[in-house]
Amino acid sequence: MAAYEYETHDYDVVVVGAGGAGLRATLGMAEQGLRTACVTKVFPTRSHTVAAQGGIAASLGNMGPDNWQWHMYDTVKGSDWLGDTDAMEYLVREAPKAVYELEHYGVPFSRTEAGKIYQRPFGGHTTEFGEGPPVQRTCAAADRTGHAILHTLYGQSLKEKAEFFIEYFAIDLLMSEDGQCQGVLAWKLDDGTLHVFAAKMVVLATGGYGRAYFSATSAHTCTGDGGGMVARAGLPLQDMEFVQFHPTGIYGSGCLITEGARGEGGYLTNAEGERFMERYAPTYKDLASRDVVSRCMTIEIREGRGVGANKDHIHLNLSHLPPETLAERLPGISESAKIFAGVDVTKEPIPVLPTVHYNMGGIPTNYWGEVLNPAEGDPDRVAPGLMAVGEAGCASVHGANRLGSNSLIDLVVFGRAAAIRAGQIVDPSTAVPLPSKAAIDKALGRMDGLRHANGTVTTAELRLEMQKTMQADAAVFRTDKSLADGVEKMTAVAGKLGDIKVSDRSMIWNSDLMETLELTNLMPNALATVVAAEARKESRGAHAHEDYPDRDDANWRKHSLSRVEGASVDLTYRPVHLDPLTRTEDGGIDLKKIAPKARVY
Ligand SMILES: Cc1cc2nc3c(=O)[nH]c(=O)nc-3n(C[C@H](O)[C@H](O)[C@H](O)COP(=O)(O)OP(=O)(O)OC[C@H]3O[C@@H](n4cnc5c(N)ncnc54)[C@H](O)[C@@H]3O)c2cc1C
Repeated sequence: MAAYEYETHDYDVVVVGAGGAGLRATLGMAEQGLRTACVTKVFPTRSHTVAAQGGIAASLGNMGPDNWQWHMYDTVKGSDWLGDTDAMEYLVREAPKAVYELEHYGVPFSRTEAGKIYQRPFGGHTTEFGEGPPVQRTCAAADRTGHAILHTLYGQSLKEKAEFFIEYFAIDLLMSEDGQCQGVLAWKLDDGTLHVFAAKMVVLATGGYGRAYFSATSAHTCTGDGGGMVARAGLPLQDMEFVQFHPTGIYGSGCLITEGARGEGGYLTNAEGERFMERYAPTYKDLASRDVVSRCMTIEIREGRGVGANKDHIHLNLSHLPPETLAERLPGISESAKIFAGVDVTKEPIPVLPTVHYNMGGIPTNYWGEVLNPAEGDPDRVAPGLMAVGEAGCASVHGANRLGSNSLIDLVVFGRAAAIRAGQIVDPSTAVPLPSKAAIDKALGRMDGLRHANGTVTTAELRLEMQKTMQADAAVFRTDKSLADGVEKMTAVAGKLGDIKVSDRSMIWNSDLMETLELTNLMPNALATVVAAEARKESRGAHAHEDYPDRDDANWRKHSLSRVEGASVDLTYRPVHLDPLTRTEDGGIDLKKIAPKARVY
């Protein structure tokens, strides 16, 4: 290996990622008086969070009665009883506080006549523990909520003097011999220099891995880099089999049409012009949970009732809505429909198809964001020096299926919780320990190996093969056969990483090398997804297994843990947390209300 020089920086906390989760953590850490750096491969306000349209869930009750217990019930049911009860309680109880904080930081929420934060209905959010009508719980800044949140949090973080390292690509975690995270190695993309960030606490906020699939609503930067780094550090990934398909990606491009469109009164129709959701989900219809709507659409298409020349998609109708509502509440999606489908939403339906949208699985954490490294007899053992928040993490509040608008709230609640926890356990008065030379050399060696890789398959070819395999075999509906095929094919695809070819050997703006590093991150995420899916012999949330159509709580109400090494996955399990934080006596949740039952909408 060529000798590489690097610059060393030291901070109390280094946050990797500047999406909603990374920025909320960065801001909170800086407010706690910790010296904080935020390292990000894209400019903060270009993170995928910028694309979040619909909104952020919190039981403010601005539009009618609501409370955190109802929000908790919906989240537990949405998760199909796989979420951790303590984490879900923390999420919904802290949600209103976290939203008011955003308001005070300056997020320009849409307003009601009375000047309160506007809230819209969203799928799976109900009243009266699922017995009452849909609730208006999703706080929105028109259909640009993520955009508004990112800009506000970035400005506030600068005000608190957090330091930003922009267009720095984090390559690997620097782990000590005894499993303590001591920092990260990063590559500055525009000048090719290398940087060791030593830190007492590293926070991974790197987002999801939607790009492991061929058709995804997520940005091309959503390559699961945090999961890849964690896998290489010998730590597990949790519940990777649960991948959410959003019902309404625009046919062809995959570009998202927010669920807010149905929240504002839009509905789906098949080739017969029938509002088919009424048949499957008589109560909540088009506002049933996402996995349910995606499956119903897929069944309609399979049974020959799809629209279009190839009968392979579905229509989303908005033209009956008043033009003022479209202009005021859904301006962004009106524009997307025009650009990506050539459709005028005031006159015609939008062609849509279920598209990969969100990863419920990720790096396992407790509800303070601390990464877990479960051991025999100690399923909640903490990996020291490491946290994960946002879509990269798995707290787990979304379990087997996430409710719309519950991710943005997850970002800010757990970004904030990580900062509170770091304020308790990171001592700003001590020196920052330097990462070991061995760890730095290992990370440099891996990068150097890829930089000079001279095999026979290009990164673009191998990435496409992975994406097509995942799309075909780890899809909306799964069978023993499709999953067994998927495991076999993905094992072969992952094996080809050793035969990768990189053509550009430079260090400056080498997008070939960057995409290769990203592919080495996507791969363990993809492999864990299909292996954990193949093993799970039940249907739960987003994991719809045709050979095992029912949920099996006796055998499968447990989190999967995948430790990935090269092309092989070691699979174990850890128990779901069943205990809430508070009991009914202390104003907590009535456990009877959230006891497992069939999930119908
Ligand atoms: C189109 C779309 C619409 C959505 N709408 C909603 C909605 O209305 N409501 C809702 O609740 N949820 C919504 N979601 C889901 C939600 O927006 C995402 O789950 C969430 O924004 C993820 O935020 P994050 O902070 O975890 O990661 P991201 O916003 O994806 O940010 C990841 C960050 O990590 C950095 N990074 C990654 N890898 C590296 C590396 N190797 N080195 C350095 N930096 C790195 C990136 O630069 C980036 O700053 C939507 C998702 C999509 C795709």
